[in-house]
Amino acid sequence: MNKPENLKPEDEPLGLYAKREPVFNRRIDGKFRRIKWAIMVICLAIYWITPWIRWDRGPYAPNQAVLIDLAHRRFYMFSIEIWPQEFYFVAGLLIMAGIGLFLVTSAVGRAWCGYACPQTVWTDVFQHVDRFFDGDRNARFRLYKAPWGPAKIARRLAKWSVYLAISFATGGAWIFYFADAPTLQHAFWTGTAPVVAYATTFVLTMTTFVLGGFMREQVCIYMCPWPRIQTAMLDEKSLLVTYKDWRGEPRGSVKKAEKNPGQFGDCIDCNQCVAVCPTGVDIRNGPTIGCITCALCIDACDRVMKETGRPRGLIDYATLEDAEREKAGEQPTRHLKLIWRPRTILYFSVWAGIGLALLFMLGTRIHTQLNVAKDRNPPYILMSDGSIRNAYALRLRNMEGRPRQMDISIEGLPGAAMWTEDMAREDASRTLTRMVPADETQSVRVYVVAPSDTASQKFEFKLQAVGDAREKDEADVKFDAPEGQ
Ligand code: SF4
Ligand code: SF4
Repeated sequence: MNKPENLKPEDEPLGLYAKREPVFNRRIDGKFRRIKWAIMVICLAIYWITPWIRWDRGPYAPNQAVLIDLAHRRFYMFSIEIWPQEFYFVAGLLIMAGIGLFLVTSAVGRAWCGYACPQTVWTDVFQHVDRFFDGDRNARFRLYKAPWGPAKIARRLAKWSVYLAISFATGGAWIFYFADAPTLQHAFWTGTAPVVAYATTFVLTMTTFVLGGFMREQVCIYMCPWPRIQTAMLDEKSLLVTYKDWRGEPRGSVKKAEKNPGQFGDCIDCNQCVAVCPTGVDIRNGPTIGCITCALCIDACDRVMKETGRPRGLIDYATLEDAEREKAGEQPTRHLKLIWRPRTILYFSVWAGIGLALLFMLGTRIHTQLNVAKDRNPPYILMSDGSIRNAYALRLRNMEGRPRQMDISIEGLPGAAMWTEDMAREDASRTLTRMVPADETQSVRVYVVAPSDTASQKFEFKLQAVGDAREKDEADVKFDAPEGQ
């Protein structure tokens, strides 16, 4: 298709693809940078150390404090053990994590993105590796522009090797959450670990290498759905990193400002706020999806303000409402006051309510469970003496870390008795005792026999842990008899 002759460059439609502008962010020190350091160290320490923490659960359960034991379908977290049928605890925790993110976003904006998101933390780590090998912003930029030669290739290879080592440590650490860490580590290095351990490590190593080492801010801007959701959640009371344009504009250098007193704002157009930004955003253009509110530009600008003898806070955390107030010369609201507002109170109430409910359920749950499945075909058998026999598959669950004796009894079926496959019928009784191994489910096939005049009816199996009245369960089942009984 021919281009219309009178089409100006600014009228041309935007392309769907834009080449990435690499970000060479400058090192900065300051209050928020130090907070970022602290959170980064805490997050990485939690991630790498957790699988190595031991927790004594006795001889029948693993001694790893946090373990997702897929083979035995258990989730261990310190003194808590979650069985598959208790998955609602995990679901509850996930819901709490989701609502927690909503709460944090409503209260303090995109703090998760700026400080604790794994993509932010690992990007930060890789950016420090860049600085270590290639120097600060200008040196990195020069090296980027320099033609490829032996020196540049050597530096790149060294740097990417460190990227790879960090990525391998990241991917490799993940698998230790799913098996006994010391055992798996030995198996891993001796080549005897399951294939899935090597495959998982490889996939996570490569994703960390690519996402943290190369894609960086593009993950936040283009791939992650969370910024879009957050944008919809922010309102005029949400805390954002804000450039106070009414104070900073018109911007101009210190020299210009000295020559023309009163003509320029506080922004000296030094570009330091852009230079330190890990996502390459110019906050002076207003908040964008690329701004993860890491506040490094606040550190940079505060330093510039101090050096030029101007009040700090030209870039600062502020709500839209406060920004308008300040612009009008009024006092801004205190940040803490803004945190407690209907929306955050609602999120906090739901979050805390779910947390308390989970704690209550954890505190009151019993560790004894009974499941019963009746034989459907045949529903009953007529015995040679006229009595009627039904068969049931019982599953006795001992969720404690020690073997326990359990009594099985039947109630509500007059004249009935039961026996199991490993008993003689003559020994049938209304109560049986089984020893259920620690942390296991035992299957027992039970035959219940009732007198010949018994009609079809419901009755109960009861399971009672010996010596602990609270530890019991029951199951309603049906006893089938010939019609007309
Ligand atoms: S760091 Fe501050 S003074 Fe410098 S350009 Fe940014 S806003 Fe202006
Ligand atoms: S604009 Fe400022 S707060 Fe936003 S990402 Fe860049 S440095 Fe962080």
